[in-house]
Amino acid sequence: MAKFKYVYGTVKAGKSTALLQVVHNYEQNWMKALLIKPKRDTKGNDSVVSRLGVSRKVDYLADTGEGLHAFLHSQSCVACVVCDEVQFLEQDCIDVLWAYCKKANVPVLAYGLRTDYTGKAFPASIRCFELADEVEELAALCNCGRKGRFNYKLNQENTNSAGIEDEGVDKYRPMCGQCYYESAVKGE
Ligand SMILES: [Zn+2]
Repeated sequence: MAKFKYVYGTVKAGKSTALLQVVHNYEQNWMKALLIKPKRDTKGNDSVVSRLGVSRKVDYLADTGEGLHAFLHSQSCVACVVCDEVQFLEQDCIDVLWAYCKKANVPVLAYGLRTDYTGKAFPASIRCFELADEVEELAALCNCGRKGRFNYKLNQENTNSAGIEDEGVDKYRPMCGQCYYESAVKGE
């Protein structure tokens, strides 16, 4: 049976690059891969762009669970569904992706951040952990060389905006727990 896989990591962990490679692998074998991202993720407009310069137009910009359900069930011969930035989706969209995986027997790969810069999990990320058959962590390195687990926000003056609005080029930095504690928690 097809699996719902959740691949999470910090900013700069190479999620988009890994995801575009998966899509490419399917398409190279003439198999149909659907690429989805949340409508509210405006970075790259209607494309997924990796830091290495590769990009691909998305097949669907997801907004509501109902809309996503209708889109998925209007498609035929789907070999795989890949979704980027899943943390920005509504929780019911994760349920729709999971149900589609199980009903249509199509593998679904969901890529996204685990937590925002305050160290709290996104609601959609929690739903992914709850439903996933398989979970994988993609790690970026902290400046100290340890594995990055947190997203540290540089220039903390805009602290009233909750969560991560945009992975944006240099607004966030991956940090290990030790450095995150020293930089973001201890001083407050
Ligand atoms: Zn560190």
